[in-house]
Amino acid sequence: MLLRWRDVHDKPNGVELYDSLEFPNVLKENRQIISLGPIDVQLHVEAVSDTLTVNGNLKGPITYRCSRCLTDFQDEIAAPFSEQFVRVPPDELDAEDERIPVTGDAIDLDPYLEQEILLALPYTPVCQEACAGLCPVCGINRNEQVCTCKAERIDPRLADLAKLFNPE
Ligand SMILES: [Zn+2]
Ligand SMILES: [Zn+2]
Repeated sequence: MLLRWRDVHDKPNGVELYDSLEFPNVLKENRQIISLGPIDVQLHVEAVSDTLTVNGNLKGPITYRCSRCLTDFQDEIAAPFSEQFVRVPPDELDAEDERIPVTGDAIDLDPYLEQEILLALPYTPVCQEACAGLCPVCGINRNEQVCTCKAERIDPRLADLAKLFNPE
């Protein structure tokens, strides 16, 4: 998705940008994502002298693999987008300036959009808060079936303590 200075610089009220994008790298690099997109990108862009301010939202369907029960489930990913670009050579920008220095007329927004998607991903997706996961002994999905395995999970640090209280 390209943003061009020439499309924005003479519009006092800014411009609206819409696109529908795929993010194949995000999909490829995250095993817990089964499908992603298309992502609707809605942006409002304003130019004030040498600075472009871009605000908006990303939203679209996503399918995760639950990190506990390994079942695929659908969800929606939504993320705000907010960046400022400034037309100066990087070495002329103050170190504390959070604006992104750019040169040339066109800015490729894709890497910045991709970054927002990555930040919006859960560290460990779960199909539901109460997902019971798979039985570590027999492997059944404990959301769907009940087994009789003795699979009480004891924290290894507490295991020795448990022996103290329950000597064999
Ligand atoms: Zn689950
Ligand atoms: Zn079991």
